[in-house]
Amino acid sequence: MLNNILGEAFRIAIGGHVRPDGDCVGSCMGLYQYIKENYKDRRVDVYLEEIPEAYRCIEATKDIKHEVPENTKYDLFICLDCGDKDRLGFSALLLDQAVRTCCIDHHISNTEFTDYNYIVPDASSTSELIYNLLDEEKITLGVAEALYLGIVHDTGVFQYSCAGPSTFLTAAKLLEKGVDAPRIIQDTYYEKTYAQNQILGRALLESILFMEGRCIASYITKNTMDFYGVDPKDLDGVVSQLRVTKGVEVAIFMYELETNLYKVSLRSKYDVDVSKVAQYFGGGGHKKAAGLTMTGTPHDVLCNLARQIELQIETTLDK
Ligand code: 5GP
Ligand code: MN
Repeated sequence: MLNNILGEAFRIAIGGHVRPDGDCVGSCMGLYQYIKENYKDRRVDVYLEEIPEAYRCIEATKDIKHEVPENTKYDLFICLDCGDKDRLGFSALLLDQAVRTCCIDHHISNTEFTDYNYIVPDASSTSELIYNLLDEEKITLGVAEALYLGIVHDTGVFQYSCAGPSTFLTAAKLLEKGVDAPRIIQDTYYEKTYAQNQILGRALLESILFMEGRCIASYITKNTMDFYGVDPKDLDGVVSQLRVTKGVEVAIFMYELETNLYKVSLRSKYDVDVSKVAQYFGGGGHKKAAGLTMTGTPHDVLCNLARQIELQIETTLDK
């Protein structure tokens, strides 16, 4: 229960992972609002990097802090949806400075880097885990909207196998609070800007199939991103579109962070464990959705990844 996690902490900070996604924003904003509304004698702040514009429909996102002020010491730092210290980015400072630390997460690769780690790798999302910690009766519409957003994003709108019976029950409870589900799904998940669609088209057009069509890969260089006027936040969803290709078991999408440094997203369709591939190269994630950062030309990166993916495909076939 949340009371046990908060204990006597008076000054509380919440943070999530770099390049925050829907679940990261949803879980952070859900917990933030709940503490603010129900523990009025405490002080709570939320720290995240810049978030995608669409998530601004969660009103409380206006309170997000993007920098850690000097000499701030919190009694408790809660990090959400984050599997290791490096992924905290600028808010790692809060982890170092806080009296007590806690992590609530669902990444199988979580390294248990805080004092109290509540990690459930089978959970659909961190937002669902947060819901389980709260008193149902005290959940307001604002909290419900944030948690619903998180669940929608990490389940691909209730599509992935991580969406189990408990996920649907949680979503139903949130709907009872008055969440406008079609609006959240349309405005934050499906809607794309014209530039986002163009870059998606470009990535699909230039994708390559290999390993007899079981693998698909595509990449976007920094030059191409500049040409279309997009940044990494605009590339969400490209790898999911690659993944749906008939016959494909593993999809790879990468974009250039700086010269010869690539952020790689991996997705699998059935049973191949891409978190193992990501962890091999220092990244992490879930069985069917994982990520990492790698140096080299796109060709080098792909060759290195291909070998590990092949091993995972073989492991899966052996089972
Ligand atoms: P995405 O490909 O959408 O960036 O991430 C897929 C999943 O893998 C997410 O759950 C994300 O948190 C995790 N992930 C992505 N990149 C990294 C990384 O560099 N390190 C770790 N540990 N996890 C990552
Ligand atoms: Mn998540």
